[in-house]
Amino acid sequence: MCPRRFLKRAIATAEKAGLQIKAAFENEFYLLKSNSDGITPTDDTVFASTLGMNINCAVIDDIADALTAQEIQVERYYPESGPGQQEISIRYTDALQAADRQMIFRETVRGVALKHGLTASFMPKIFADQAGNGCHLHLSLWQGGENIVPDSDRKGEVSKIARSFIAGILEHLPALMALTTPSVNSYRRIRPHFWSGAFRAWGLDNREAAVRVPSNFAPPSPTHFELKTVDASANPYLALGSAIVAGLDGINRGLDVGEPVAVDPGILTPQEREKRGIDALPSSLGEAIAQLLNDDILQNALGAELAQAFIGVRRAEWEAMKDMEIEEEVKILLSKY
Ligand code: GLU
Ligand code: MG
Repeated sequence: MCPRRFLKRAIATAEKAGLQIKAAFENEFYLLKSNSDGITPTDDTVFASTLGMNINCAVIDDIADALTAQEIQVERYYPESGPGQQEISIRYTDALQAADRQMIFRETVRGVALKHGLTASFMPKIFADQAGNGCHLHLSLWQGGENIVPDSDRKGEVSKIARSFIAGILEHLPALMALTTPSVNSYRRIRPHFWSGAFRAWGLDNREAAVRVPSNFAPPSPTHFELKTVDASANPYLALGSAIVAGLDGINRGLDVGEPVAVDPGILTPQEREKRGIDALPSSLGEAIAQLLNDDILQNALGAELAQAFIGVRRAEWEAMKDMEIEEEVKILLSKY
C-alpha cells in the first residue's frame, strides 16, 4: 500500500508506453503570525508587491538557501495575491523526484518559517474571502530525451499525444480530484474567479480552466501543461501517480481534448457552458469520493487495498468535517498542512 511505490508503478507503465513524465509542484502558502488572538498574515500587500518582498525577505531568503542546499533549484519567487501569501516555484524533474521534492519543500518551508517565529501553512483555503493555496501540478511528456508536448511542426500547438494525455486527465478529473484535492477544505478553494480551475475544461493561458497550457514567448511552445485542481493537502505520490494513470488512459483510448476554452467559463451562462461541454467539478470531497468509487481505471491502478484504505480514511474525514465552518477547519488543519 506504499504511495511511493504506486507512483513508481505509474511511471513504469508510462515507460512501457515509451513515455517519461517530468513534473513540478508549484506551491503557494501563507506566512502567518500566531498569537492568543489567532492568526495574522505577515503582510497585507497585493500580488507581486515589492513591499511584500521586503517584509518577508529574511524568511524567504532562508527558505531559498535551505532549498538550494538540498539541491532543489528555486526558479521564481513572488508575493501572491493573498495577505501574507507567497509563491516559490522550483525546477521540474522526473516524476518520482518531483514528488520527493514536494515532501522536502513543505518540510523546509514550514521548518524555516518556524525558526523565524512564523507559521507557514499550505492549507487550501484559510481565509474565505482571500485567494486559496494552490499546488498546481506541472507536467511534460518526454520520449528519448525530447519533450513531446510541443507539436513537431512548432507552430505553437499541443502534440496529438499530449492532447490525449490532457483528455485523459479531464475525463477522470471528477474522480481524480479525490486524490489531488483530497481534504474537506480543498473544495472551498475550487471556486470560479479564484484562478483555481473550477471548470472541467482546458485552455491556453486560461487560469480558470482546470488544465492550463502556458505558452512560451518563443518556440518551442507550449512545453508543458498545468493541472490546477491540486493542493498541498494531497499526498504527492498519489496525486501525481493517479494523474499519470488518467493521462495514460487518455492515450490508450485515443481521446482528444477538443477545442481549448479561451474565456473564463465562470462568466458564461450555464446554457453556454453546456453547449461547449464544460462541466462544473465536484463541489465537495463527498462528491469526489463518489466519483472515485465509480472509476475502475483509477481504483485498479491504486490496487484494491490502497484504494480501500484511501477511500475509507477520506470518507471518515468527510463524515467528520462536512458540516464544519471554515474557522473550525482552520483550527484543525492549519498546522497539519
Ligand atoms: N491561488 C490560486 C489557486 O488557488 C492560483 C493563482 C495562480 O494562478 O498562481 O490555485
Ligand atoms: Mg500562484
